[in-house]
Amino acid sequence: MPSIFAYLSAEVDWCEGNFEHSQYIAEYYNTVSNIIFFIIIPFMLTLNMDYMKYRPKPVHSLAVMVALIGFSSVYFHMTLSYVGQLLDELSILWTMGLCYACWFPTHHYPSFIKNREQFSWIVGIVTVVSTLMSFVRPVLNAYALNSVALHLLYVVFLEIKRATNPRIQRLGVITVIWWVVAISCWIVDKFFCEFCQKINFCYFHSLWHVFINIALTYLSTLIMYLDVLYEMPTAEPDLAYWPSKNSPISLPYLVLGKPHKWC
Ligand SMILES: [Zn+2]
Repeated sequence: MPSIFAYLSAEVDWCEGNFEHSQYIAEYYNTVSNIIFFIIIPFMLTLNMDYMKYRPKPVHSLAVMVALIGFSSVYFHMTLSYVGQLLDELSILWTMGLCYACWFPTHHYPSFIKNREQFSWIVGIVTVVSTLMSFVRPVLNAYALNSVALHLLYVVFLEIKRATNPRIQRLGVITVIWWVVAISCWIVDKFFCEFCQKINFCYFHSLWHVFINIALTYLSTLIMYLDVLYEMPTAEPDLAYWPSKNSPISLPYLVLGKPHKWC
């Protein structure tokens, strides 16, 4: 029985050929494409300074967790080891748990939950149980994580319907479009590898890394906006884009009309 740290001991193997570009890196492009995690984090932290003053601890925790996802994903695709697979999936699971606990809008809580503290406890318990279950069958985790993502998208859809600001509706729609593009790449790589080999392009999982990060940048801006809107509407939250709104590639971020109110 191979060690759980051994190369190729994971339950999954993506479409990209193994050890084609390096004898130390199993999936070269799936590994290096994770650099996007480490580019997005400093940008988002710098751009969302107003919001950082409001919720420094959750935002810093989220930045650490996203960096952890990046490191885990590098280790996983580099080795395709069982431990790498577990770390990759669990870091995503715990990041989702953190986001639900800190930011899930209270008006979407089930009726038996009274406040955020109670909700956070339930999220914590579910996260711990899911973690334990993932040791039994890690491959199921990927599907569970995508199911949670579907729930998040459903909530985004409800919030787009509720929103009165057309710029927020647009942000929500773009978030969903990027997510659909990203998950399509994940599905094509996972289930249509033969087709990828035929067209001589086995790098859809690398594209998934890039596109899901773009989708998450849009999603996190939307979440921050809703947080301020519901918790402190007098701060006048609004959207801005870097470097500019009309630039072909731009990152959305949150600006507060009256940021001094947080102090
Ligand atoms: Zn990956």
